[in-house]
Amino acid sequence: MTSTLERIAPFQNEVIKNFQDPADVAAMEAALASVKSRFGAHYPLVIDGQKIETEKKIRSLNPADPSQVVGLTSSASKEQALSAIDAAVRAFETWKKTSAQERAAYLFKAAALMRERRFEYDALLTYEVGKSWGEADGDIAEAIDFLEFYAREALRYAQPQPVVPIAGEQNELVYIPLGVGAIIPPWNFAGAIMAGMTAAAIVSGNTVLLKPSSDSAVIAAWFVDLLAEVGVPNGVVNFVPGSGSVIGDLIVAHPQIRFISFTGSKEVGLHINELAAKTAPGQKWIKRVVAEMGGKDSIVVAGDADVDAAVEGVAISAFGFQGQKCSACSRAIVDASIYDEFVEKLKGRVAKITVGDPADRANYMGPVVNESALKSISEYIEIGKKEGRLIHGGGRIGETGYFLEPTVIADVDPMARISQEEIFGPVLAIIKADDFDHAMEIANNTEFGLTGSLYTSDESKIARAKEEFFVGNLYFNRKSTGAFVGVHPFGGFNMSGTDSKAGGRDYLLLFMQAKTMSRKA
Ligand code: NAD
Repeated sequence: MTSTLERIAPFQNEVIKNFQDPADVAAMEAALASVKSRFGAHYPLVIDGQKIETEKKIRSLNPADPSQVVGLTSSASKEQALSAIDAAVRAFETWKKTSAQERAAYLFKAAALMRERRFEYDALLTYEVGKSWGEADGDIAEAIDFLEFYAREALRYAQPQPVVPIAGEQNELVYIPLGVGAIIPPWNFAGAIMAGMTAAAIVSGNTVLLKPSSDSAVIAAWFVDLLAEVGVPNGVVNFVPGSGSVIGDLIVAHPQIRFISFTGSKEVGLHINELAAKTAPGQKWIKRVVAEMGGKDSIVVAGDADVDAAVEGVAISAFGFQGQKCSACSRAIVDASIYDEFVEKLKGRVAKITVGDPADRANYMGPVVNESALKSISEYIEIGKKEGRLIHGGGRIGETGYFLEPTVIADVDPMARISQEEIFGPVLAIIKADDFDHAMEIANNTEFGLTGSLYTSDESKIARAKEEFFVGNLYFNRKSTGAFVGVHPFGGFNMSGTDSKAGGRDYLLLFMQAKTMSRKA
C-alpha cells in the first residue's frame, strides 16, 4: 500500500512573479484597487471560532501614506488572552487526536486558496508593510511554500520511525505534539513567517494563540480567516493581536503555554526566553522557546572576485525591501586591492535605485515600516556619517511617507556602531579589509550569525569560508537574501536565534516530542 506522502507530488517552490507578463500586471493592478477599496475594514479577535470586536483597535497604516488606514484590528485585553488560552487548551484535546493526514489536508487547502488569491495577498503586503510588487509576491510565494512543505513534513513524521530491532520486543517511536503554543511573528515577512510559524505548529498537532505584530495585523487576520474557511476547527488557532508588554508577557509566562515560537529582534527574543524560563505555579513542563532573531549580515568581497557581480549582489541584498530583511547585507567587507573600484561602482549602482510608493511598479524601494523605524534608522544614519564617509543617500525623501534614501557609508571601522548593531533599514557600511584573513576576522566579529556571502573566484577561499564563516546561511557568489523553503533551510547562530532552521527537515521537530513504546513479543 502506498502512504499518503507517496501519493502527493514532491514539494516544489512557487515561482516568484517578475511581472513581465501583462496579465500578471493587470491582475496586480486590479488587486491593488480591490484591497484599497477595503481600507478601513475592521478585523475582530478570533477566540474559539468566535469573532470578538473590541473597542481598542490596532491601526495598520500604509507606510507610503500614513493617512491611509489599511485596517483596524481588535486588540485583546488580558482577560481575552486568558480566554484564548482556555480555548486552545480545550481544542488541544481533540486536535492532538486528529491524524497527520487530516491536519496536512487543511494546509494543502489553505495553500491552494492562497495561490488563487495571490495578487490580493500581494497587494495587501504592498499597502500594509510597503513591499514592492516583487517583494510582496516573494513573501506570499514563501507563505504558500511553507504550507506545502510543512504539510508534507507532518506526513513524513507520521510514518513509522526507525528504531533498532531487538529480539523479544516490538518497539516503536512516534512523534506527538507538545500542547498550546504562542506564535509571535515579526512584520517584515508578514505573510511568510506568520503563516509558516503558525502552520508548522498546528500541523504538528498543537493548538496556538497567534499574536501578530501590530504593524501587520491585517494580513494575519486574513490568514486566520483562510484557515477557518478551509475548516480548521475552532480553538486551534486563536487570534489575539495586542500589545507585547500587556498580553505578550502574560501569554509567554502563563503555565498552560507549552512553547513559544518567536521571530523578531534580539531584545524581545531574549526577554521572552528569560520570561519563559521561569516556572509559574502549576506549570508541569519546561517551556520550549524557538527564537529566530536579528542579524548583522556581511558580504565579503575578496580581491579575486568578479567586482561587477559583487556590486550587484551587495546592492540587492542591502536595499531590497529597504534593508528590512533579517538576511539583508548591512556590511560589505571588501579587500583593499579592489576597494576603490568596488566603492565607485557601488555608488553608481545605488544611484539607479528608485524610491517611492511601492504600489507603483516603477519603484524598487518603498518606505520603511513605521515612524519609529524612520526615527531609529535616521539616528543610525547620523551616527554613520560620523563613523565613516557618506557616499550615497543619508536623508529622508518627502514628508508624507516614511521614505529614506538608500544610504552607503564607506571607510567604516569594523568595531563602529553601524558595523556592529542591527539597523534594519537601507543603510550599508563598507569596511576595508587588509586581506582575506582580515576579512574573515571582521565577518565573524559581531554577536550575530545569520547570513553571509562571499564573492571570490578562489576555491581555497570558499573552502576556508565553509569552515570559518560562522553563519547559519552562507552563500557564495550570490546575494545573501532570498532563501527558498526546503532549498535553503533558514536560521542563524549566536544572538541570531536558537539555531533552528525554518523550511528545513528538522523544523517540525521543534513542535513535537518523541514517545517510545516497547511491547514484549
Ligand atoms: P520585534 O522584536 O519588535 O517584534 C516581534 C514580535 O514580538 C511582534 O509580534 C511583537 O508584537 C512581539 N512582541 C514585542 N514585545 C513582546 C513581548 N514583551 N512579549 C511577547 N511578544 C512581544 O521585531 P520586529 O520589528 O517585528 O521584526 C524585526 C526583527 O526580526 C529584526 O531584528 C529581524 O532581524 C528579525 N527577524 C529575524 C528573522 C530570522 O529568521 N532570524 C526573520 C525575520 C525577522
